[in-house]
Amino acid sequence: MAHYTDKQRKTILVKKWEQMAALTREKCSGIGKGACLVPFSCCDRVYCEIAARYAKQEYGVELEKTDHPTLPFMGPNGCTVAPHLRPICAIHVCERSYMADRPFAKAYFKLRANLDRLEDARRAKGKK
Ligand code: SF4
Repeated sequence: MAHYTDKQRKTILVKKWEQMAALTREKCSGIGKGACLVPFSCCDRVYCEIAARYAKQEYGVELEKTDHPTLPFMGPNGCTVAPHLRPICAIHVCERSYMADRPFAKAYFKLRANLDRLEDARRAKGKK
């Protein structure tokens, strides 16, 4: 991996997670080939709790709750948590999405491999 400062590395990581969330969000919202048939139905309180634990453990961030009745971090315009703080949500997409859309699959797995390397580098540096 190229020699980045910690700050540059964090900026790239955050950006890549934003790209991943934007990529999967499209399929989750029901747009395009192989998109979800029941848009945004995968959110669950359990995953919100996992996100809260991850944000605290990995970044020392306390997530702010919304007033959503069942999903603590769901706001009026979608999830309020930055994608790098909720990686299992940001990366999630159904198999049908990449089975049905080859260009999407290519972009998704390329970005995923990139994120794996960035996350490995972050952990090797001692998180954050
Ligand atoms: S995307 Fe946001 S609202 Fe949905 S499960 Fe994950 S943390 Fe909760």
